[in-house]
Amino acid sequence: MICRKELYNLLENNEKKLVRLTSDLIKINSENPIGSQREIIDFVKKYLSDAGIEVQEVAANADHPCILAEIGSDKGFSIIINGHVDVVPAGDLSQWEFDPFGGNITDTQILGRGTSDMKAGIACALFVMKLLKQSGAQLDGNIRLHIVSDEETGGKYGTKWLCQQGYAKGADACLVAEPTSRYTIEIGQKGSNELILRAYGKTAHGSLENYKGDNAILKLSKVLQNIGRLRRIGGKYTVDQQEALSNSKYIAKTKLNVPGVENVIDHVTANVATINGGNKLNMVPDFCEAHVDMRLPIGIDLRQLEHEIREMIKESCVEGVEYEADWKNFGNSTPIDSQIVQTLRKNAEDIWKIEVLPAYQWASSDANYYRKLNIPTIQYGPSNTEGIHSYNENVDIEDVINASKIYLLTICDLLGIS
Ligand SMILES: [Zn+2]
Repeated sequence: MICRKELYNLLENNEKKLVRLTSDLIKINSENPIGSQREIIDFVKKYLSDAGIEVQEVAANADHPCILAEIGSDKGFSIIINGHVDVVPAGDLSQWEFDPFGGNITDTQILGRGTSDMKAGIACALFVMKLLKQSGAQLDGNIRLHIVSDEETGGKYGTKWLCQQGYAKGADACLVAEPTSRYTIEIGQKGSNELILRAYGKTAHGSLENYKGDNAILKLSKVLQNIGRLRRIGGKYTVDQQEALSNSKYIAKTKLNVPGVENVIDHVTANVATINGGNKLNMVPDFCEAHVDMRLPIGIDLRQLEHEIREMIKESCVEGVEYEADWKNFGNSTPIDSQIVQTLRKNAEDIWKIEVLPAYQWASSDANYYRKLNIPTIQYGPSNTEGIHSYNENVDIEDVINASKIYLLTICDLLGIS
């Protein structure tokens, strides 16, 4: 029976194949939005079935299929590894120093759109699955792969749907291979919600503005000037959450390097993202609407939030402004002492020889759909976080290889391979 050490050596001897696999995934353009994810999903399917792993395709939308694959036995520890194969659009190609879909490999890096977010993470998961399958390792449990092709535009055909359909049932832990950094295990996220503000006025001929009519755009802009009020609302954290909270603030401060930015972790953020109003140049607008991206921290008090929104409107001294929100997503987290957190932390620290901090992310992610099902869920994946969603995205080869080692060793520990 193959042991942990032998599996580790096998991985090291095949490192080049992992780098090649990452590059091959980059070469398949899977921008979302734009078109279908068919080609990349077929590639993943073929990779797994060539390795002798049974693959199932399920879909809520034919252009955004999901892949389920499983190895191991029905009994024992069950871990899900989740990742998305879609990437954000490459944007203005002239801003890139290399072909975003060239899959170039340098001495130290793999280059291209989606390297960090998150084809390197996907490659690690696929590679480790294949390694375990082909080595004939005896797993005291199972690994379930959830590969989705709709994350970058909200995930309604991806992880959210998989979880709603019951595909996550019975899992003891979930590892999302999203980009973090080697230093951080993300054990919590904020909840993303939409707040809509609508102002109603009275139309009149544009030439009579200020004398007749009631300008809805001006009204709404008065309210939006007070949006900062909402950022003062903080979440509530239990004693057990203090360690991760202080780690998170430390990380935000060091990474983002803007005064006060650590507050983003445990306070509401409200980004006025889009605004729409008016009909025509020569008319006083009678309607204006703004969409605000609201990120809610752990332990938010909804009554306080709603109260502040009403006060914000009141403070602006305008009539005829309403708001609409369907609060569904809240700050969510996995306890720091969970087996998945501590096992991955130990292995990451062993491999990197650095301190690895469990922390809460200032953004939101698919992890919350698993947490809603009470599955302890973490994010840890290879990346250079600076290039994510921007130009010249890349990933260090060392990060990719070490992430795959950390995944492998964590699986060994959780699934009884010593
Ligand atoms: Zn991502």
